[in-house]
Amino acid sequence: MPRRKKYRKVSLDFPVFGGIVEFTPDELEALRLADIEGLTQVEAAKLMGVSQPTFHRILKEARRKASMAALGGKASIVQDESVVKIFSCFRCGYEWNERYGDLPERCPKCGSESIHGGRRRRRRGRR
Ligand SMILES: [Zn+2]
Repeated sequence: MPRRKKYRKVSLDFPVFGGIVEFTPDELEALRLADIEGLTQVEAAKLMGVSQPTFHRILKEARRKASMAALGGKASIVQDESVVKIFSCFRCGYEWNERYGDLPERCPKCGSESIHGGRRRRRRGRR
């Protein structure tokens, strides 16, 4: 016989929060890298170009906001001047940054329109 599940006591009334929870793009990226991709803070910090203690601060605030959103707040994304998005070129492999929200039309190095938001993809089949 399975043991009867013990009662868990809560005192919340849902929704706890009714307002808007504003996330900056770097907070969402921190959540994605740490809690969805499962990277360590050192790995994630390196990808985002910040120190591990800075990543920890971003993640801590992001998790607090994620909890507020889960408890009834409405998630929204806001701009932050200090956040840039990585772009890369399919043709020459060049990687560069643009202010978050800006969409470049061509590679600043070779002029190709064959670009995408994100890091250069690693070639498959090379083990
Ligand atoms: Zn290029």
